[in-house]
Amino acid sequence: RVHDQSYVTLATNENYALGALTLGSSLRNSNTNRSLTVLITSQVPSPLVDQLRTVFDLVELVDVLDSNDSANLALLKRPELGVTFTKLHCWRLVQFSKCVFLDSDCLVVKNSDDLFDNDEFTAVTDIGWPDCFNSGVFVFRPSLQTYSSLLTYAVQQGSFDGGDQGLLNSFFPNWKRASFVYNMTTNASYSYAPAYKQFKDSVRIVHFIGAQKPWYHSYNLDSGSVMGNVTVHESELINQWWKVFVDNVLPGLN
Ligand code: UDP
Ligand code: MN
Repeated sequence: RVHDQSYVTLATNENYALGALTLGSSLRNSNTNRSLTVLITSQVPSPLVDQLRTVFDLVELVDVLDSNDSANLALLKRPELGVTFTKLHCWRLVQFSKCVFLDSDCLVVKNSDDLFDNDEFTAVTDIGWPDCFNSGVFVFRPSLQTYSSLLTYAVQQGSFDGGDQGLLNSFFPNWKRASFVYNMTTNASYSYAPAYKQFKDSVRIVHFIGAQKPWYHSYNLDSGSVMGNVTVHESELINQWWKVFVDNVLPGLN
């Protein structure tokens, strides 16, 4: 077990906590030898926090409006940066020398530990604007110095898309590109179906971007498939998410 390196995700509410539980279970199923960390806020219901503790090695409570931090006070005037700010907390995990951040709407389908061979800042191209990276998966080095610089940058420059992706792309212009298989955004599977068919067996991490998160779909437990208005490509991936959820997360919910 590599104790000074960790996967890190974030959940600020109940729904994203279900995502984090499923992601964490998928990481365990991938036989990772890195530790697992989840950042949560006080809005995550306590039974889910207890369940998160059974999957993650470290459950770290973070606060969007932490008045102990002078940079936070400046951020209070920028409420739209709230969620951005919360993701930035990951740079404060200085007990780790290197981490991989994963959005909680990601699913690890194959061991991805070789991501840790990369250094800050490594990410995967965004398929909406391929000169940018998608901020759902990235390799970073926790550092209070970087954390503070990021906050200063957020306050002074803002984010060109109002979220963490715009901010991080501006802050890390010299990012290194990792293979798309580490952040296969689900819309790619139908916007470039032949490539998906060719490469899908090498996919390591699936990322369910957009408003239609897997946990919002209805799922038929008997047939093991998602119901409703989804394409074949989408349903294949959403079914994969649901299988991990049903096998590993659902039994622990009450
Ligand atoms: N997130 C959260 N609560 C929210 C919104 C976002 O915890 O209300 C976290 C969660 O880890 C999520 C990430 O921030 O995966 C980025 O948001 P999202 O995945 O919804 O953005 P997308 O990938 O669809 O652009
Ligand atoms: Mn996401």
